[in-house]
Amino acid sequence: MADLDPHRRFRRQRQNLVDLLREKGIFDERVLAAINQIPRHLFMDQALERRAYEDEALPIGLSQTISQPFTVAYQTQTLAPASGERILEIGTGSGYQAAVLSRLGVSLFTVERLRPLYERTRPLLKELGYRANCLLGDGTKGWESMAPFDGIVVTAGAIDIPRPLLDQLKEPADGLPGGRLVIPVGGLGGQTMQRIVRTGNNTFEAEELEAFSFVPLIPD
Ligand code: SAH
Repeated sequence: MADLDPHRRFRRQRQNLVDLLREKGIFDERVLAAINQIPRHLFMDQALERRAYEDEALPIGLSQTISQPFTVAYQTQTLAPASGERILEIGTGSGYQAAVLSRLGVSLFTVERLRPLYERTRPLLKELGYRANCLLGDGTKGWESMAPFDGIVVTAGAIDIPRPLLDQLKEPADGLPGGRLVIPVGGLGGQTMQRIVRTGNNTFEAEELEAFSFVPLIPD
């Protein structure tokens, strides 16, 4: 069947997914609206598209996954990015999380370590009209030349918190709060989501949130 307007396909499934996410505790209406509008089925192999609006992580090749919609919604809601903010994502992967952030009007920077994913996703985001600055590299180093960031979101599990990511958060100034980092921390058994806020030149406040299970962040 010709796919004339991909954004119109699976509309009912998308709405059902949004209803489910709401039941699971996602309340940020901007995040829910973004998920309602983004064709997640285009961020995976066509053979899997029937499952695109289940609340599940799905394989995207190279032992990587497109994150579960709940996880994407949760991380985005926790990051709470305002339109126009500079946001860095570590782990571009399928590009779906990047699309959600782009849809929220942020100035988006995203780093992917695996070349085949970078080469597939960068043109896909562009083709679908999502604005993102993509970099091929090791995200544990952040993206120094584009720092500082209002927010950083890491979409793979970290054994510990990479120092460069803390350093690349905006410092608080002129009464404005510092940048924040949303990162799942823990080993292969699972991670705890942490929200870290920069409170000064070398001071940070961390808050431990819920348990998740991510693919590991691959260090250099
Ligand atoms: N945000 C993605 C999630 C993909 S899974 C999405 O919405 O689909 C995690 C991704 O992190 C994978 O693509 C993996 O290749 C990437 N990754 C792992 N270690 C990394 C590193 N050190 N730097 C950048 N990306 C990394």
